Amino acid sequence: MHILDSLPLLRDANRSWIFSLIRAKGSICRADLARQTGLHPSTISRIVSSLMEEGLVRENGEGPNARGRKPIMLSVVKEAIHVVGIAVESTFISAILVNLEAEVIEKLEIKLCDQTMETATKEIYTVIDDLLKRAEDRAVVIYGIGLAMHGIIDNDEGICLFAPARRAEEVPVAKAISEHYQLPVRMDNNANAMALGERWFGNGKGIDNLLAIKVGQSIGSGVILRGQLFSGSHYSAGEIGHVNVLSDGPLCTCGNYGCLESVASIEAVVSKGRLRMKRGEDRELLALTGNDPDALNFEILRNAAELGNSLALHLLSEVGTHLGLALANTMNILDPTAVLIGGEILPVIDLVLPKMREIVTARSFRILKNKVVIEKVGLGQDAVAVGAATLIFEDLFQP
Ligand SMILES: [Zn+2]
Repeated sequence: MHILDSLPLLRDANRSWIFSLIRAKGSICRADLARQTGLHPSTISRIVSSLMEEGLVRENGEGPNARGRKPIMLSVVKEAIHVVGIAVESTFISAILVNLEAEVIEKLEIKLCDQTMETATKEIYTVIDDLLKRAEDRAVVIYGIGLAMHGIIDNDEGICLFAPARRAEEVPVAKAISEHYQLPVRMDNNANAMALGERWFGNGKGIDNLLAIKVGQSIGSGVILRGQLFSGSHYSAGEIGHVNVLSDGPLCTCGNYGCLESVASIEAVVSKGRLRMKRGEDRELLALTGNDPDALNFEILRNAAELGNSLALHLLSEVGTHLGLALANTMNILDPTAVLIGGEILPVIDLVLPKMREIVTARSFRILKNKVVIEKVGLGQDAVAVGAATLIFEDLFQP
């Protein structure tokens, strides 16, 4: 089901254009709408009136005008449209209900007991049921559901083509959910969704060439070029996790050796920490695990780093080195304006970014040095779920 099927009012191209322009500008008068679209002022007036009647647009006071009558400004009603955004992560699902400005109205998280596609699918329906119920209690109408998950996703048809961690291939996830709820459903890879959400609502606002890297149990990136999400010819663009950073490195889930993901994912870092404690390298960190190296997890590692533990800090610095190497190569190819880092790494990102920036400066093409902003995402841990919701906004505002 397409988004416009649930929003018949926007089916008309001019109407949709006007609505998109008002949203993009934040506040604009009828005369400027006519100037910017080339449509006749009477057409603008008629469309604006109908958008106001439907509660999608409102008048928002007078705007500035040096001479003559001050124009009445228009803005969209952010409470008029709500969508659901779902981030399916490796160990949990995060689901939110947001309005047109991506303000989170409701949020819930559910743990996944395993990584199978069956469990993920079952819990996706659980969170949607819950959010639709909450939306009903609030008397808000849901216009669509956006879904983000790991793997290679056919974002045109909403098919999970390949998700190695869930051992899933060719699963038409979006179609099944859309038919079940009779709502438009859009689906994409989680890093792609994060990039899109950041461009609309986060630290990537207004940036046309943007790279967003998601570092968690796996590593991926979303690429936005000239304002559009770039998925590649086979929906697999942005797989920065499988860029080689160590020629004789460990075996990766993809079958290659020394991929970024095999040395810098959360799991890889914790594994390295366990190994080095078993070699007797750090008594202090060992004490924090109750003298059991295998008890080390990301939370203990993070606490240790915050306490200044040298092994924990060294391991995070190595993450910065490897991310920096992969990023320098990627930047040389894409020449982005900004690079945003998000995902489960966020709580320790300030301990990773300095080394990462240092390596990028040392390794990237000279003309890029110190010109590319490398920062954390602006939407924090909600970045992927907001990005998933943004998949629906993309349909709505760029039909
Ligand atoms: Zn790999």
